[in-house]
Amino acid sequence: MDSFIISQGTHFPCEIKNFEGDYYYKPDQFFTMNHTEIQNPLDQIKRSDTLLRQVFQKKKYSITIKSNVFFVNSAFTLYQAPLEKPILYPTQLTRYFEELNARPSILNDNHYKLADELVKAHKPSSPYTRVPPYTYENLKKGLICGSCYSYEILPGENVLICHTCGREEKVEDAILRSVRELQLLFPDIKITTNLVFEWCKVIGSRKQIRRVLKKNYTKIGNRHCTYYI
Ligand SMILES: [Zn+2]
Repeated sequence: MDSFIISQGTHFPCEIKNFEGDYYYKPDQFFTMNHTEIQNPLDQIKRSDTLLRQVFQKKKYSITIKSNVFFVNSAFTLYQAPLEKPILYPTQLTRYFEELNARPSILNDNHYKLADELVKAHKPSSPYTRVPPYTYENLKKGLICGSCYSYEILPGENVLICHTCGREEKVEDAILRSVRELQLLFPDIKITTNLVFEWCKVIGSRKQIRRVLKKNYTKIGNRHCTYYI
């Protein structure tokens, strides 16, 4: 659950999705346009609803909840979208909150107590849970600028220069930054010279990458199956 709106009558758990691009819906399933199935956000709210109801019952709160999935990215389209599902689209958000704000709602001590308990029970979620599905193959390769995230990086002498913002970075620093990116995006991936070479794109020699990896990481294996940890 990403947010929880407490009001006098009904409470509103909110599942917020920042999906971008085109998707389509089939009964109980969500797909990207290349037919990859993704986790159905409606299942997520169903599951969290059940858990919430159990928790509230145990604590003897008698409350009504109405969960919604909020798609907040204005570049999101869902084809074959179902009419009756609790989904709010970017174009509806303003109206939704206007209507919500227009409802009279007087909060009492119990509401504040409930808020405190929810905050206490909150476990910070992993930053990965809201990331759309991705694979190494379908990600765009190439070094990006550490300041402005531009791909327009030009190799200079021992430094790389961002053509967009002018930032300079030592080649070694840029390689290490790319390795950290790879490790963050793919915790199980084996860091090899070839992988980093392909990922960075802009660095001209494998030798240079190998030298930096050797200096900063531990080399495992030899010859054709060398990787670094
Ligand atoms: Zn830049």
